[in-house]
Amino acid sequence: MEIKSLVSGSFQTNTYILVKDQQAILIDPTGKKEKIIEALHGVKAIAILLTHGHFDHIGCVDDLSTFYQCDVYLHDNDKELARSSHLNRLGNISASISVATKRLKEGPLTIGPFHFDVYFTPGHTAGSVLFAIDEHLFVGDVIFQGSIGRTDLYSGNASLMKQSLKFIKTLNEDYILYPGHGPTTTLKEELQYNPFLR
Ligand SMILES: [Zn+2]
Ligand SMILES: [Zn+2]
Repeated sequence: MEIKSLVSGSFQTNTYILVKDQQAILIDPTGKKEKIIEALHGVKAIAILLTHGHFDHIGCVDDLSTFYQCDVYLHDNDKELARSSHLNRLGNISASISVATKRLKEGPLTIGPFHFDVYFTPGHTAGSVLFAIDEHLFVGDVIFQGSIGRTDLYSGNASLMKQSLKFIKTLNEDYILYPGHGPTTTLKEELQYNPFLR
């Protein structure tokens, strides 16, 4: 499996593209849709996975799910947020999606040749999840290198975040972490240096 990342928007959000057997999964597609289509080099996206519903992670969801005729997976707890440009904003920046979404549940999720494990980790938003595949863990805005996601936006919850971090500490420390913003890291490094995980 090949993993590419694209950075876009004023919040420097990471969109991840996973490619295997000439099929692709898009995680948090945002920014310019042309940039994502170009990065796919003709490979078809077979699904869009959302780590959570925030405006800075969903910019291309409507366009790309229509373009590729593919399903969009989002946890139910973030559905209301993702569909409301009123709730889903920071200052004057907002976004929303209108296409139908498929329900994300904790546990195994197989889409084409991709076998994920989904972990439910609320706190940054009520519907934040992690996607694990092989040694890779896509963590959205739950953990960043040296930091964690804020809990003061709509549906954020500091005590749920604490529980989620406690759970993450029990995962395999060899996981490579792919955050929604900033560089890739490892769980081992974060357990050692991230003040919120120590
Ligand atoms: Zn977020
Ligand atoms: Zn974000």
